[in-house]
Amino acid sequence: MTGSVAGLPVVWHPDCLRHEPAGEVWLGVWETGTELPQRASVLLDALTAAGAVVTAAEPHGLGPLLAVHDAGLIEHLATIWQRWEAGGYPAKYGRTRVVPYVFPTAGLLGGLPLRPVAAVHGEVGAFCYDTMTLVGPGSWESVRAAADAALTAADLVTAGKRVAYALCRPPGHHAGRASYGGSCYLNNAAIAAAALRSAGAGQVAVIDIDAHHGNGTQAIFYNRADVCYASVHVDPGAGWFPHYVGHADERGTGDGDGANLNVPLAPGIGDDGWLAGVSTLCAAVRRRGADALVVSLGVDAAAADPESPLLVSADGYRRAGELIGALGPVVAVQEGGYDLASLGSLVVATMSGIVAAGCTRCWP
Ligand SMILES: [Zn+2]
Repeated sequence: MTGSVAGLPVVWHPDCLRHEPAGEVWLGVWETGTELPQRASVLLDALTAAGAVVTAAEPHGLGPLLAVHDAGLIEHLATIWQRWEAGGYPAKYGRTRVVPYVFPTAGLLGGLPLRPVAAVHGEVGAFCYDTMTLVGPGSWESVRAAADAALTAADLVTAGKRVAYALCRPPGHHAGRASYGGSCYLNNAAIAAAALRSAGAGQVAVIDIDAHHGNGTQAIFYNRADVCYASVHVDPGAGWFPHYVGHADERGTGDGDGANLNVPLAPGIGDDGWLAGVSTLCAAVRRRGADALVVSLGVDAAAADPESPLLVSADGYRRAGELIGALGPVVAVQEGGYDLASLGSLVVATMSGIVAAGCTRCWP
């Protein structure tokens, strides 16, 4: 298996290491969390050891981010840490990371419009929908670098590469047009998909094999016919994040009716059932046709991963890669995957499957 990603472009920016959320507040308790900077180092080491070639993520400016995200979210993420610090939250009150405490839900607003609020600590919950997605010094630099990595990988595929991999950290598929959460801030996969469309791809498919439903990506493209979203994930109906969305009857709306496909799976399903789900996604994408694919490549469905109960093996990931790689040019965007001991080999396995199926000569 090693060596089968030889020459694969791995798009990377060292700023992706700067985000240190310092854990997460989960069910009211500050825990160490699993979205650690070491995830990126482990992935970089494993891919380069297997022969992949590091390519620098190029700055793309705010334009491609605003094609997907609301300007208010970008402004919030770009400035919230400085304003948090200026407000004395870390130094005076010991609040060392940005954490929301009040959320303007439909019930709180009671039908009234969302107004700007005066207090910095009151503003956070208007954008961040959970308590596990903290912001600290360096977070924005990492978020920008991850988006630039996805955009550079999309550029490579637009220029004719058959496969490119973006080593994005933090991940992105839980971030919506104007919201963030689930350890995600900007939606790297959606940003790549929109860039592929702008560069001329008529139809783009996002295939999401992260263990969790990509609620942000689904929401961003839910009413669009030009980008279809297909996801296999642990059933939110069985009690798993993101709880409220990711069900099989969410099929898209308006122009996007029929362009959204969710395959929720039971906890404990293992390789065969998970791969059947991936096959269902691939068959749907083949039916619709796609000029380019974005893969939300989370490897947290693996048996050793602490964040899901799906029990997929490295061989299962390689076979999923083969199914996906046969569909067309692939921009792979890193999402979840939290078991530091196996993370690298799982991503190498998936990418080797994509490369093996997709081309005999992927890069000059
Ligand atoms: Zn996940």
